[in-house]
Amino acid sequence: MQMTRKPEWLQKKITPSAHGAMEGLLKELSLNTVCQQARCPNITECFSKHQATFLILGRICTRLCAFCSVTKETPLPLDPGEPASVAEAVRRLGLTHVVITSPTRDDLPDGGAAAFAETVACIRKASPGTKAELLIPDFRGAEAPLATVIASAPDILGHNLETVPRLYAIRSGADYQRSLELLARAHRLNPELKTKSGLMLGLGEEENEIFEVLEDLLATGCSYLSLGQYLAPSKLHQKVERFVEPELFEAYRLRALAMGFAHVESGPYVRSSYHAEQYGESAGVA
Ligand code: SF4
Ligand code: SF4
Repeated sequence: MQMTRKPEWLQKKITPSAHGAMEGLLKELSLNTVCQQARCPNITECFSKHQATFLILGRICTRLCAFCSVTKETPLPLDPGEPASVAEAVRRLGLTHVVITSPTRDDLPDGGAAAFAETVACIRKASPGTKAELLIPDFRGAEAPLATVIASAPDILGHNLETVPRLYAIRSGADYQRSLELLARAHRLNPELKTKSGLMLGLGEEENEIFEVLEDLLATGCSYLSLGQYLAPSKLHQKVERFVEPELFEAYRLRALAMGFAHVESGPYVRSSYHAEQYGESAGVA
């Protein structure tokens, strides 16, 4: 059954008038955020607290995920000043924890890995106390770009599985085993690195399938997990099949912790970057 009306626990309001200060800074520094591009429902809450997830490598993706509102066209060349601009925004906002992500850039030989690494380096210089979390694409399974990113020493490395393997047709160009292997390889390259992944629920997955994915994630060495409700960005995107009740999200959180995850955020409005600073705090990322 496809769901159209949102239940009462999913009525968060977006108040554009509260975004002014953040939007001004982003415009001044020519920066993109996934908060805006993915039409995140938490944008007013996060922007009001001067928090954002920066979207580097431009705002055009080379893939066509059916659930995602990021623009799909011919990508533009990279902005060489972008890593320094992100670092400047982090410094001015006084962020203690920042999440950096990107669209998938299959057109770039390194998938944008060098830009991720340079962004971490610029943040370390401009704001040494800030924890840097990277949420990376799959680099088409290549090891060299992943090694470049890991060598930049992010505090947390994330890669989202997004959904269960049976539904991977909606994750155009992605491969479940390849994504799992990326997380496992990250641990082989640096066993101390904290890795993180996330799933959207409500796309038609069965409960047993969710927990099979969590077992697969734990087997890679992944220790942080986010579970959130999928919300369709528009009527043209993948439909919502189910709204998961808040009590069920909490039950999933407890079960995931019992399975062995070190920190789990699970709730209707959870996104991989929602309350991101709490993952580092709970596990003492230093
Ligand atoms: Fe941005 Fe993440 Fe907050 Fe959404 S949850 S508004 S993507 S920082
Ligand atoms: Fe969106 Fe898919 Fe591109 Fe990621 S890879 S930005 S989820 S279209």
